[in-house]
Amino acid sequence: MRTRFAPSPTGYLHLGHALAAKEAFGFAKRNDGECLLRIEDIDHTRCKPDYTDAIYEDLTWLGFEWPKPVRVQSHHLAEYQSVIETLHDKGVLYRCFKTRAELAKSPAAPLPPDEEAALLSSGQAFAMRLNIQACQDWITLPLVYQDSGAKKLVDLSKLEDIVLARKDIGTSYHIAVTHDDMIQHITQVVRGADFIDQTPYHVLIQTLMGWPIPIYHHHELLLREDGEKLSKRTQDTTIGSLREKGLSPDQVLAMAQIRLEM
Ligand code: GLU
Repeated sequence: MRTRFAPSPTGYLHLGHALAAKEAFGFAKRNDGECLLRIEDIDHTRCKPDYTDAIYEDLTWLGFEWPKPVRVQSHHLAEYQSVIETLHDKGVLYRCFKTRAELAKSPAAPLPPDEEAALLSSGQAFAMRLNIQACQDWITLPLVYQDSGAKKLVDLSKLEDIVLARKDIGTSYHIAVTHDDMIQHITQVVRGADFIDQTPYHVLIQTLMGWPIPIYHHHELLLREDGEKLSKRTQDTTIGSLREKGLSPDQVLAMAQIRLEM
């Protein structure tokens, strides 16, 4: 089996990441598999090379090892663009020219061809949204997947027309993550429970593209004492700051502990 740890370099890694890394690398070890490291840096508005360097440094300090070379998503934007084109050609995406303020007033919807053509020729920026209605026509068999040991079914009627290509970056997390899980032959995705609700969209994209559907495992998140999720923007528990305080890698890994059964 093969899994991956796929952080985004939008800040320094904190204890929540140490936990997620432990889960992914530990899962691979227990199952005689391998765990890749992938840098998910498609969002040039938030990611910084300094944070990427710190990811390598912090994970190495914690004692994790991964095969090289590491896949860095910002080097593969053309591949994600071609997935968007394929989905658009299948008729399951539509262009959305609306601004945030307009979306607050009325929901996104496909435009009549003449209106769309006019906006296109005026050079206005657009996002590409998933057309759930069109997906319902396209998908004829139940979409089933495994999540944390349970069989789950994608309920298309509960999904929304989410953005698959952002106006500013031309792609999205959903496209990059599913494409790379396919290209890297990831058989098991081990990640935090904050991605549970994204998974039905990932299974839908995989099905539309004819890609294999990995087995998913979502682990619990490490919460702060007040019950809030740790955020990389609250730099309270970055690996770097704990290291500077004199803690050892084992002490930091011991702090990043939750009960987990999988
Ligand atoms: N890149 C995501 C993050 O930084 C993880 C994506 C995933 O594991 O599917 O949290």
